Amino acid sequence: MTECSFCKIIAGKLPSNKIYENENVLAFAPLKDSIIAKGHMLVIPKKHYADFYDIPKEELHNIVDAIKIISQKLKEKYNAEGINILHASGKVAQQSCFHFHIHLIPRYKDDGLDTWPETGYKEDNFPEVYKDIANLF
Ligand SMILES: [Zn+2]
Repeated sequence: MTECSFCKIIAGKLPSNKIYENENVLAFAPLKDSIIAKGHMLVIPKKHYADFYDIPKEELHNIVDAIKIISQKLKEKYNAEGINILHASGKVAQQSCFHFHIHLIPRYKDDGLDTWPETGYKEDNFPEVYKDIANLF
């Protein structure tokens, strides 16, 4: 089985622009052609987990703690007025690297990014769907 590219970055077998690192978490810049905003970065657990279903909640907490620290600094240094924290799990959700990762995307006034699509949701019985979901708990 081929080692995933994020694991190679963590192991130092692939180069990366490391931004923040602690015992459990690494934040680094995406490949240049994938960067969509000033300060856009990927935040990952140092251990390999495939996706949101796979990662333990303690590891999620570590990642959210790191995102909180990093985003505060970005706000102070670059006047980021907002932030998008984006995650994709599964091919159907457009996950491309199957090592859990979160995109941290600082947002600036008039940055031209449009992150939410026009809704095309057409289900007529959506109240029942949500009721059904609520009944799962
Ligand atoms: Zn990995």
